[in-house]
Amino acid sequence: MRYSTNIEKLHPSATIAMSTLAKRLAEEGRDIINLSAGEPDFDTPVFIADAAVKGIRDGQTKYTPPPGLTPLRKAIAARLSQRAGRTLDWKGVVVTAGAKQALFNATFCLFGPGDEVVVASPYWTSYPDLVNIARATPVCVFGDESRGFKLTPAALESAATSRTRGLILNTPSNPTGAVYTLEELTAIAEWARDRGVWILCDEIYRNIYYGDDRAAAPGLLDVPVDSLGDFVLVDGASKSYAMTGWRVGFSYCAPEVAAKFGDLQSQITSNTSTPSQVAALEAFGNVSAAEASVAEMAAAFRRRRDLVTRRMDELMPGITYIEPQGAFYLYFRVDQLFDGDVKDSTAWCSRLLEQTGVALVPGGAFGDERWARMSFAASEEAIEEALRRMAPLVNGD
Ligand code: PMP
Ligand code: GLU
Repeated sequence: MRYSTNIEKLHPSATIAMSTLAKRLAEEGRDIINLSAGEPDFDTPVFIADAAVKGIRDGQTKYTPPPGLTPLRKAIAARLSQRAGRTLDWKGVVVTAGAKQALFNATFCLFGPGDEVVVASPYWTSYPDLVNIARATPVCVFGDESRGFKLTPAALESAATSRTRGLILNTPSNPTGAVYTLEELTAIAEWARDRGVWILCDEIYRNIYYGDDRAAAPGLLDVPVDSLGDFVLVDGASKSYAMTGWRVGFSYCAPEVAAKFGDLQSQITSNTSTPSQVAALEAFGNVSAAEASVAEMAAAFRRRRDLVTRRMDELMPGITYIEPQGAFYLYFRVDQLFDGDVKDSTAWCSRLLEQTGVALVPGGAFGDERWARMSFAASEEAIEEALRRMAPLVNGD
């Protein structure tokens, strides 16, 4: 079949492919522990689900404006303004079908043929593909492993060319769990401002943060305004409120640019599902209930982070991993376990799945075949059992 050059470089999402395979094997009766999926295992909080059901019964089932229900955009802007300590224009908010569509809108509207977009690596699997769909060129740049691969202005400067138009950052990071400090983010923002480079900052894991001094991870809106050039902030309801299937994300940027994103949506999806927007209005608008459920889920993730790192140290002391400061992934090296048959992380993860039933995502999905990613968005029993099954394969027992 001959397809358009638009999708010449398209790959299906590797993370979704892996979790789909694990779910299928489980349905076929295999004893699978699925630590591939990057989605909270909690149910959507009841107060949010109830608001959607009421909305449907009350007839909130028609089209909305393409950039979203105005009260929802205002509620999101109010939350962002509170965090930024300044009033942000609600017309800068565009509600999208998941954070993924916000990233698509931004890459497609801002970049095109001839443009280079630096992708902080290891990267969440969809970023290079989204840049390719826009027919721009992704340039994957890795920071030092000793710093959790975080980038610095020096690393960015050595990768930049006269064609560099954008930088995609993710903090807290999927897959590493690394979190940029405010100082690090500010330095990067100033570099991008001075270079005239757009920052697309994906802060979808902002509320899942293990730092001690504050509830949420530092983000772009904490950076002093003078240090910020052009940017698009991406976030959503999927991770903070356990709403992956509802498909609600958003972007915040200059209203003029947001209007373009709305125009694009008006030709593609019209609007995010209306009942999902009604649910999100409760999630972003009912601040006290939302904060209580975020705090409860973040505490559970912290217990799991502590469990997974403690048990890795006890059961597989030879494994190097990045201590997660946020998100819910453990990124660890597997290249010392390769042999004649297993020469990369994809083969190693396949062997692990075959022999133990534990499903992970190979590092190739994030740009480095020497690593693997374990999601700890699973019960403590499942995590404990998965590590117990993995240990003999890792230790060669
Ligand atoms: N960004 C990152 C870093 C993610 O891990 C995910 C995972 N789904 C997304 C964006 C997409 O989120 P959504 O489900 O809201 O589209
Ligand atoms: N973000 C999740 C992950 O990395 C969900 C899958 C996806 O959207 O790619 O596993």
